Amino acid sequence: MDELDFENRIVSPTEIMGDSDSDNPLRPKRLEDYIGQDKVKQNLAVFIEAAKQRRESLDHVLLYGPPGLGKTTLSGIIANELNVNLRITSGPAIEKPGDLAAILTNLNEGDVLFIDEIHRISRAVEEILYPAMEDFAIDIVTGKGQMAASYHLPLPHFTLVGATTRAGQLTAPLRDRFGVSLRLELYTPEELALIIKRSAGILNIAIENDGALEIASRSRGTPRIANRMLKRVRDFAQVMSDGVITLKTAQIALERLEIDELGLDSNDRRMLTALVKYYRGGPVGLETLAAAIGEEAVTIEDVIEPYLMQIGFLNRTPRGRCITRAACLHMGFDLPDAQDGQIRFE
Ligand code: ADP
Repeated sequence: MDELDFENRIVSPTEIMGDSDSDNPLRPKRLEDYIGQDKVKQNLAVFIEAAKQRRESLDHVLLYGPPGLGKTTLSGIIANELNVNLRITSGPAIEKPGDLAAILTNLNEGDVLFIDEIHRISRAVEEILYPAMEDFAIDIVTGKGQMAASYHLPLPHFTLVGATTRAGQLTAPLRDRFGVSLRLELYTPEELALIIKRSAGILNIAIENDGALEIASRSRGTPRIANRMLKRVRDFAQVMSDGVITLKTAQIALERLEIDELGLDSNDRRMLTALVKYYRGGPVGLETLAAAIGEEAVTIEDVIEPYLMQIGFLNRTPRGRCITRAACLHMGFDLPDAQDGQIRFE
């Protein structure tokens, strides 16, 4: 089976070439412009207001959920609402404890420090993060042997916003140091249609309501994918007709891009096909499935499965992954013999 090209596929929820840069005009700047995630927004609004009233820094916030759902965007909004600076870094970018110390000592009072992929920071860096988060101080040791000296360095009161795809990937001591923990959910097609119309307005793209909903329902619950598809469909609308995105142009464009009505692309289809062809629909262990399609288990877990589970195409059972009847119907596979509730493919 061919290697899957998840890195650059149009339905990839992680950033691909040509997506955006840090100064992305499509990122909402204020909480009121952030569409969906109502529970998260309501809670954050209270915490932000309370911190402002007390003139204190906001408690540390952990954001978790699949990629492309708006974690980075939300950290920017938190900083804007608090009227402080935002500093963005990521777990893998902080190589040594000294790197983190340099970032922390350069923060101003109240600033927001966003650490993406926080589950990927090293143990040594994590050790520095504990006292920094808890006591707003770090201990720095200089020199060796008898010349060694330890300095206790106070830090400004800052807010750490950590992002991860799964909260379970964090060590317990790190997780415990976040006062606020918020889970982002996949968006509904209606919410994504609002995001698409907002983005179309910013990018000066003419789009009809059912055109927006068509793109939305193929965007796998993910705003990053929705924005990317909007840009690609615009190209088709421009070349094929008068530039207005209608239901028809959206359908034709997405068909040409090989994304089906549910947002599945050829890679999803290949994974579901492998599940049926080699493992009779499952159950099959994640690692085995990953090896069969030449993909990392973590990519399958973080990138592909959340959406397939959300639309009821995949079940996670203690014995492994199973395809569902709905998926078989959609894919045109022979319907399973469901006598014992187990899916069997001969
Ligand atoms: P993450 O950090 O979770 O991977 P981002 O914050 O980078 O995701 O969001 C990806 C893109 O999706 C951003 O460019 C932003 O424009 C858009 N986006 C995300 N969430 C929303 C939202 N709630 N409303 C509008 N646009 C959003």
